[in-house]
Amino acid sequence: MNADIVIVGSGFFGLTIAERCANELGLNVVIIERRSHIGGNAYSETDLETGIEIHKYGAHLFHTSNQRVWEYVNRFTSFTNYQHKVYTNHKGVVYPMPINLGTINQFFSAAYTPNEARALIAEQAGELAGKDPENLNDKGISLIGRPLYEAFIKNYTGKQWQTDPKNLPASIISRLPVRYNYDNRYFSDTYEGLPTKGYTAWLEAMADNPKITIHTDTDFFDTTQPWNQEALVGKVPVVYTGPLDRYFNYSEGKLSWRTIDFETEHLEMGDFQGTSVMNYADAEVPYTRIIEPRHFHPERDYPSDKTVIMREFSRFAEAEDEPYYPINSNEDREALLRYREKAAQENGVLFGGRLGTYQYLDMHMAIGSALSAFDNKVRPHFENGAPINGGKNA
Ligand code: FAD
Ligand code: UDP
Repeated sequence: MNADIVIVGSGFFGLTIAERCANELGLNVVIIERRSHIGGNAYSETDLETGIEIHKYGAHLFHTSNQRVWEYVNRFTSFTNYQHKVYTNHKGVVYPMPINLGTINQFFSAAYTPNEARALIAEQAGELAGKDPENLNDKGISLIGRPLYEAFIKNYTGKQWQTDPKNLPASIISRLPVRYNYDNRYFSDTYEGLPTKGYTAWLEAMADNPKITIHTDTDFFDTTQPWNQEALVGKVPVVYTGPLDRYFNYSEGKLSWRTIDFETEHLEMGDFQGTSVMNYADAEVPYTRIIEPRHFHPERDYPSDKTVIMREFSRFAEAEDEPYYPINSNEDREALLRYREKAAQENGVLFGGRLGTYQYLDMHMAIGSALSAFDNKVRPHFENGAPINGGKNA
């Protein structure tokens, strides 16, 4: 076996570790990937009918304030100056998201100044004054008041999570800002943009080293192929970025995920909605949002008479579905603690990435945590013989 390290999964976490091991340490790296392509959920492909780049596993917008990550990713791709903006349709009227002074004034047909809008929202959130919001419902009302919460958050969240917002953690909504000015950029990070030549070119550039061998269509749990769990663990260092519960054969219970069904439609028109993402805030519309990917790259020469759109429907993931967003219920969190204990004992295996740690990670977080894992675990292992997972050695 000509591998110094085996990496399970070719998403951003696995590729970052692979790239560092090959380029910094000169190691022979084998990546195994269950799918027929590399890149994990950030993978994109060209739509044959229109030539438009499609993000196969859902729209991916790159943004970060982490200087180290920004410098690192720029080694493999340049970025366009795309700035993400989202609009939302409520009762047939379109408003800017996240909620900002434009949304507030349009909703109340007013011309409030920042201070007037703050005072109004404080009054409308007054019913929860002094209480520490424990769930998404209360957090939403305390942030923006009941009328705006009921229009833009309550039903959208209900559709997206299929759960009453009273039973969801307040933290979900904390990542959505509320602004008392007219800034309607979706992200507040220092750096933002889309890979100029697309995600797949970026992902391939990371793996472009003769010391990295990739086996696609290869499942770590398939014992009929040589790169499997039984054959490798304890014999060669393994970085595992697949689902944590699957690794331990679900011994502590299944961790729950939300998945998305995409309904793709080709249209004989140059522009369907005038923007990349339109949310649908109302309960009567079954999908949460429509993505029109051509708008991610206004600089490209896409056809002016055709477009493609994707409607997104959210639901609980079953065994055969793609796991997209960790649900993190109380049972999930308890099982996760037990899995973490088991992972720490696992001989020579480093668990990482969003599936391997059961965490929602943006791309820059997956890359950032892989860079840290390389510095703190992988490099010390190969240079000084330290255990790769902080526990036992392979
Ligand atoms: P993944 O990309 O999931 O890679 C894991 C890989 O492991 C997969 O390729 C999988 O096939 C493989 N694997 C699993 N099990 C096995 C096995 N048994 N054997 C072999 N291989 C296996 N981030 C942003 O920054 N901006 C966004 O706008 C954004 N939008 C998103 C939208 C959606 C719908 C989703 C789901 C995620 C989004 N993300 C976004 C997050 C982004 O996808 C992640 O940060 C990134 O994918 C994490 O990389 P990873 O390597 O941890 O995991
Ligand atoms: N959200 C909402 N209405 C919107 C957009 C977002 O209620 O128009 C809420 C919803 O609960 C969502 C959360 O804010 O889960 C975070 O939004 P984000 O766009 O980050 O969600 P993602 O698409 O990443 O799940």
